[in-house]
Amino acid sequence: LVESQNWQNCKEMVDYIADYLENIRSRRVFPDVAPGYMRKLVPDSAPEKGEEWDDIFNDIERVIMPGITHWQSPHMHAYFPALNSYPSLLGDMLADAVGCLGFTWASSPACTELETIVMDWLGKMIGLPSVFLHSNEQTMGGGVIQTTASEATLVALLAARSDIIKRCKAMNPDLEDAEINARLVAYCSDQAHSSVEKAGLIGLVKLRLLESDDTLSLRGDVLRTAIKEDRDAGLIPFYLCATLGTTGACAFDKLTELGPICEDENIWLHIDAAYAGTAFICPEYRHVMNGIEHAQSFAFNPSKWMMVHFDCTAMWFSRVRFTPFATPSEEMICPRVKNSGALHRTFNVQPLYLRHENTGAAIDYMHWQIPLSRRFRSLKLWFVLRSFGVAGLQAHVRKGVRLSKKFEFLVRDDARFEIPAQRLLGMVVFRLKGENILTEILLKELNRSGKVHMVPAALKGKYVIRFTVTSTQTTEEDIELDWRTIQQMATAIAQRVSE
Ligand code: PLP
Repeated sequence: LVESQNWQNCKEMVDYIADYLENIRSRRVFPDVAPGYMRKLVPDSAPEKGEEWDDIFNDIERVIMPGITHWQSPHMHAYFPALNSYPSLLGDMLADAVGCLGFTWASSPACTELETIVMDWLGKMIGLPSVFLHSNEQTMGGGVIQTTASEATLVALLAARSDIIKRCKAMNPDLEDAEINARLVAYCSDQAHSSVEKAGLIGLVKLRLLESDDTLSLRGDVLRTAIKEDRDAGLIPFYLCATLGTTGACAFDKLTELGPICEDENIWLHIDAAYAGTAFICPEYRHVMNGIEHAQSFAFNPSKWMMVHFDCTAMWFSRVRFTPFATPSEEMICPRVKNSGALHRTFNVQPLYLRHENTGAAIDYMHWQIPLSRRFRSLKLWFVLRSFGVAGLQAHVRKGVRLSKKFEFLVRDDARFEIPAQRLLGMVVFRLKGENILTEILLKELNRSGKVHMVPAALKGKYVIRFTVTSTQTTEEDIELDWRTIQQMATAIAQRVSE
C-alpha cells in the first residue's frame, strides 16, 4: 500500500478544497460542539490494516467539519484574519510535495535563494529602509521567514540579550553571563501582545509593561522615565518591543519618539506589526512606520491579512547581517555599527554534518531561527505576490478598511452602542453603553448563535468586542447582515434585562 499510492485521491481533495472555499458562507461560522465531541466519533486505537481512502475521505464531513471554526467565512470577525488564497495553497502543496528542508543553503539552494529574493520584494513593497534588505551589501541587513510573530519577538529578544551580555562582558570580563542576565530589563506597552511577556519568561529577563496613553500608544516620555528609574536601580535596559497595530485596538506606538531613545540608550528596538504590516503595502498607511530606521528588527505576518496562509511571519534585521544563532568564533559586533559585514554571533551550532562547500559564503537560514529544519515557505509567498501583484494586494487591504468603516458607521448610528477607541485599519472595537456585563452577555450569545464570531478585549477597564473584517469573501451585504444580527441580539438582551 505504501508503495502504490493513489495520486488520483490528491485530485479529489483539490476539488473538495475548492468546493469548501467556494461554498463556505453556507456553513455556520462557529461550531456547535462540546469538549470531547470527537472521541465518540472515532475508534479508540489506530486501525491494524490500512483503510479505504473513501472511508477516510467521508470522515472529513462526519468527524472534522462539525468541529471547525470557519476562519475563511465572511461572518468570521474574531481575532485577526488568517487568510488563505489559491496561489498560497498551491505554493504550499508544491512545497509539501517537494518536501525539502532548507536549514542550510546546500540542503536546498532554491529554498534559501527564493526566500532572500521574496523577502527583499516584500520589504520594498511595504517601504522598509534599504538597511533591511539582502540586496544592500553595504549594511548587510536581510529578511527571513519565521513561523510566528511570537517566535520573531523571542528571536529578537534572545539576540538582544546575547548582544548586551557580550557588550557588558567586553567592559567587565569578570562578570558572569548569569549576573548580567539577572539585571536585564525589557520593555513593551501595556497593550503589547502576550507573546512579548512569554518571550521575557523564556529569556529569563524582567519585562516592564509601560503605560500607554489615551490613544493606547506607548510614548517616548514614559519609556525615558522607565529607563532612568531602572538604570538608577542598577538594572540594564536592553530591549523594547514596540507594536504597530495592537491586538486589542490596533493602536500604534510612537516610533518617532521611541526610536531615537533606543538609539541613544543602546536598546534593541524590535517592531511587532503582526496584523498591520500588510497595510503598509498601501503608502497612505505607512506614516506610522516613521522612526523605523532606528529599529534592529521588524516583523509582520503575511499569514494574517496578506492571504499567505499560516505559517508565514516576515522578519527583517537591519544594519548587520544578523545570524542570531551561528558560531561564536567571529567577533561580536555592536548593533549600532552600521556598514559591518561581520556576523553577529549568539550560539555555536555548526556540526560537521551541516557544513557544506559554501558555508560562510551563502546564507544558512538555520542560524536565523530557533529550530533547525524549515519548510519551503517562500514558495507560497512568491505565488501570492506574483498572482495578485502590488496593486491587487493594495486593493484587498483598501477593501478591508472600507468594509470596517462601513461597520463603524452602522455602530455609530445606534445610540445604544459606543466605540471607545478610534477605528484603525480593518478593526472596530465596540460595546453596549453601560456595565461590562451587558457586552459580555451580548458576545456570548452572538457566538452561541453561530451566525457571527467575534472575541473580546479589555481596554483600560472596558470590556469591548473586537470586530475585524477578515474574509476575502465579505461583502457590504454581509456587514449589514452581521450588524442586524448584533442589533437583534442586543434588543433581545435589553428586553430580558428590563423584565
Ligand atoms: N503580535 C500581535 C500584535 C498580535 O496581534 C498577535 C496575534 O494576533 C501576535 C503578536 C501573535 O502572533 P503569532 O500567532 O504569529 O505568534
